Amino acid sequence: MRLEGIGVCQGVAIGTAFLVDDPFGRIVRVFLPAEQIDVEVTRFREALHLAQQQVLEATERFRAALGSERAYILETHLLMLRDSTFTRQIEDFIRENHANAEWAIRDVTGHMLDIYRQINDDYLRERGSDIADVSHRLIKILSGTKTRDLNEMAENAIIIADDLLPSVAADLDPKRVLGFVTNAGGWASHTSIIARSQSLPAVVGVRDLTKRVRSGETIIIDGTTGTVILRPSPETYRFYSEQRERQLQQLVHDMEERELPAITLDGREVTLRANIELIEEIEGFNRYNAAGVGLYRSEFLYSQAVNGLPSEEEQYEAYKFLAEMSGSDGAVVRTFDLGGDKLHLDGFKPERNPALGLRAIRLSLNVQHVFRTQIRAILRAASHGTLKILLPFVSNLDEVREAKNIIAEVEKELRSQRIKHEEDVEIGVMVEVPAAVILAEPLAREADFFSLGTNDLTQSLLAVDRGNENVNSLFDPMHPAVLRAIRFVADAAHRMQIPINVCGEMASNPAEVIILLGLDLLDLSMTPSAIPAIKRLIRSIRLEDARTLADQAINLTTPAEVHRYVNSRFADLGAQFLASAHFTKLAG
Ligand code: PEP
Ligand code: MG
Repeated sequence: MRLEGIGVCQGVAIGTAFLVDDPFGRIVRVFLPAEQIDVEVTRFREALHLAQQQVLEATERFRAALGSERAYILETHLLMLRDSTFTRQIEDFIRENHANAEWAIRDVTGHMLDIYRQINDDYLRERGSDIADVSHRLIKILSGTKTRDLNEMAENAIIIADDLLPSVAADLDPKRVLGFVTNAGGWASHTSIIARSQSLPAVVGVRDLTKRVRSGETIIIDGTTGTVILRPSPETYRFYSEQRERQLQQLVHDMEERELPAITLDGREVTLRANIELIEEIEGFNRYNAAGVGLYRSEFLYSQAVNGLPSEEEQYEAYKFLAEMSGSDGAVVRTFDLGGDKLHLDGFKPERNPALGLRAIRLSLNVQHVFRTQIRAILRAASHGTLKILLPFVSNLDEVREAKNIIAEVEKELRSQRIKHEEDVEIGVMVEVPAAVILAEPLAREADFFSLGTNDLTQSLLAVDRGNENVNSLFDPMHPAVLRAIRFVADAAHRMQIPINVCGEMASNPAEVIILLGLDLLDLSMTPSAIPAIKRLIRSIRLEDARTLADQAINLTTPAEVHRYVNSRFADLGAQFLASAHFTKLAG
């Protein structure tokens, strides 16, 4: 059986299907009849028992692997799970309110978190994350969600899910998981970005997926064309095995070209940087010879932390590693871009409209101790190399000013504490909201550099959810409105003489890159594995031709006209990579 979706990370994977339940652990309020209350209390006690066992085992593992320092955090969790006042409160809540256990846990821990949040002591306040984590674990056990245990499953697995959280995708172990397929999603969703950063073949937007696939059956996915094949015939199996072989050869070829400079035929150099989500990828980006890290999505530290928010020391270690590994070109650390379709800070209520909610810089300015801790860690780590700070989702000059004031205060604090750190670290602004586009010129006075986030910009300018398969065909960075907005920002940055870099997914799509180059955007940051194809493109065109192409494309009035025009010109402009996955997606 053949299913079609959107290929979001090129490559063929052949493996065994593994179905995963809803990864969100949605909690609903159930009103229980009196006779079910005892059953519910027992259900809670069983979950409690299992949680204690899990934490005990994890503590042992951590102690063995990472020493007692890490293990003590988990010991705190164990104490909580064994604290009869805490567990009694939950049981009482179930009895008094006829509530289901999930709801009772959420309510009781929610109150505790509110109290912790008001404590005027950083250390104690941070302990609130322990409560959140314990609550999370209990709810997960109760709802039977197994997302974190995905890596314990059989080898050669291809995950089949209705949807996968970006943090869950980031946790997949590429040695065991060969790819994934989801019902939900789009090309620029964070889960798809993670797939590309892990070079994990993936197909999203496959309708009725979970109804058609059974765990354990053989499945082939082609992340280049978006094809999913269930129970393949021997010929089909052979065909895709050969495809896989060819891809491996292509990787070897890419490596042979890694030292070639990214220079156009008429001699203009283009800077190609890496987007990094996981700290372990920092070593890998070297493989593609990137000019430093153009975007480090620091919020993924949050998903990797053992225990809620990463501490200052954990962050310091991560950023220091980043500073040391990224060499003289340095790395741009984007402050936590939490909320939206990404990770959510524990203890915050789900929002009705998260894309427009308390996210990114708004959240950082709202929960300032989290922001201050992050800035302390960045400034300290910056003394080990070249780091820059990037503020996400800015929609207002005041946000930049307030963030800069806090950064200055943190500098002062570090100075007075005589802690080694770097001062005058450059502060950039992500331009990814229409308001920031329109105010690009005054914003450029506040910023040391711009980073163009074409993913959110496309989403917010076109009012199309970047992860919603129902409107996927409308999510189009080649829409003339997006192209004009990009030109507007590029011109403002050039006029105001501040550097501008593009870090959205456009920078890894060859046809879209031609337009970016044509708008004089010559500093691009992308998922590292896209670098070879983009470099090949740059080496095969003249910047003058790209300018002409961009000038023409931007004056067209519909996305379809832009696609037709760019596709027709694309072949003429050289491009030995017509078979590239990104181009296939575009042409399709
Ligand atoms: C963007 O929005 O284009 C971007 C680079 O940030 P993210 O994809 O993490 O939202
Ligand atoms: Mg963004």
